[in-house]
Amino acid sequence: MASAFLPAGQFAITNSPFLIHNGWVPTANETLRRIPSVNQILHGLGAGPLLNQFPRHLVVEEVRHALDRLRDSIRRSDDPDRDLKSGLAALEPELGRSLRKRLRPSLRPVVNATGIILHTNLGRAPMAEETVQTMNHLSQGYSNLEYDLDQGTRGHRDRHLEEQFRRLLPCEAATAVNNNAAALYLVLSTLARGRKVLVSRGELVEIGGSFRVPSILEQSGASLKEVGTTNRTRVQDYRDALDGETALILRVHPSNFRVVGFSRRPALSELVALSREAGIPLLKDAGSGYLFRTSHPSLRSEPTVEEILKAGVDLVCFSGDKLLGGPQAGIVLGKRSLMEAVRKNPLARVCRLDKATFAGLQQTLTLYEQGVYLERLPIYRMLGTSTSSLESRARQIRRGLDPGAYRCRILDGFSLTGGGSAPEETIPTTLLALRPTAFSCNELGQRLRRGSRPVVARIEDDRVILDLRTVLPEEDEVLVQSLSQAASED
Ligand SMILES: *Cc1c(COP(=O)(O)O)cnc(C)c1O
Repeated sequence: MASAFLPAGQFAITNSPFLIHNGWVPTANETLRRIPSVNQILHGLGAGPLLNQFPRHLVVEEVRHALDRLRDSIRRSDDPDRDLKSGLAALEPELGRSLRKRLRPSLRPVVNATGIILHTNLGRAPMAEETVQTMNHLSQGYSNLEYDLDQGTRGHRDRHLEEQFRRLLPCEAATAVNNNAAALYLVLSTLARGRKVLVSRGELVEIGGSFRVPSILEQSGASLKEVGTTNRTRVQDYRDALDGETALILRVHPSNFRVVGFSRRPALSELVALSREAGIPLLKDAGSGYLFRTSHPSLRSEPTVEEILKAGVDLVCFSGDKLLGGPQAGIVLGKRSLMEAVRKNPLARVCRLDKATFAGLQQTLTLYEQGVYLERLPIYRMLGTSTSSLESRARQIRRGLDPGAYRCRILDGFSLTGGGSAPEETIPTTLLALRPTAFSCNELGQRLRRGSRPVVARIEDDRVILDLRTVLPEEDEVLVQSLSQAASED
């Protein structure tokens, strides 16, 4: 029995003075008394790596826990002596595992095998390599975040983004805050506090549980003036609702649902015409930040920021981490005079962005300016992956699995854009469907989530379904390892 914490034969079971001979079978109580003390264990560990790698007080705590577990198992054992020996032999590696686990950050990378590209619970858009590098680089030192290098004077952090957005899109000004909810809140509070905002009843939506248009409106100090009905709203309904108290017309992209059948709402251009006629600004919450039209069929009904600005809205707001493909942020584009007011609101300071996020947004926009965003942003690569390449990856993964451990099938299915974009548009995909031979699908789902590199999958029809569209190709190997590890836990 080679164990680093048992030097000089002191507690090595093989030459212990308590060693049992002649077929005498010890009881659990007698075995419990032979468990070394915490100090004896620590003394034994002295030579090994654990006390060099981890703070002593943590090691002491984990030794206590480990000895508690050992006592428990001996009490329940039908062969206490054997369990003591094997428990002590396994103690050092077990301590190493529990100490590493204890110091591991709880926020960790996971493999997204759900097929939902913008999965809010999994952190939405993965960022481009260039974006991550720029964010790292800029975070490590100082930057000209709010400093004008030409003049040697104080600058504004919005300036960096504004120049880029003005080159890319028909807008005069830009600002960025913590997320789209904050952007909407900030604009409403600036332009409509104590006054009325017209919103169609068909657009009073809830997105992802915590974001509800009516609640944000109420919190901002504006009062909601509902217009039309859930399924039908006409321009005339807006016109009838306008009065001296009206500060803003808000148009919300209904994002995660679609009213079908007997329904209509005015075209954006009709609302623009009304807003100009009445001299009341029009704000559009565009949600996803889909900047330009692409050929992706699943995004055909998603309005683009370019189209919205061309239609003539005064302001548009959207998220940074949905179809824009950057870090979490809320971006507002539009008229300079309104933006100046927004920037002067003290709330702008409350929800302002940090330098790393600015750097990430700038780099993401640079990919758009370079015309390479469809190839470089992982979300567009995922949207564009063909079913045949997904199928060949699925076959490759299947080849890496023990056929005794899993029954595998390759099936047709559907992926989703997610993040409230294109709710009814599914993307044809190829799925790997697994059924473990030795345990249940729920058990496999749990083992995959709890593994050293967690994998999140769907469970459907008593199968674990892996959609490789949202798995980065370099993660395929990780997936094989995680699946093999899950099968060998028995
Ligand atoms: C996603 C979404 C939001 C919320 O955006 P966050 O960036 O998560 O705050 C608001 N409005 C619409 C229409 C959305 O789709």
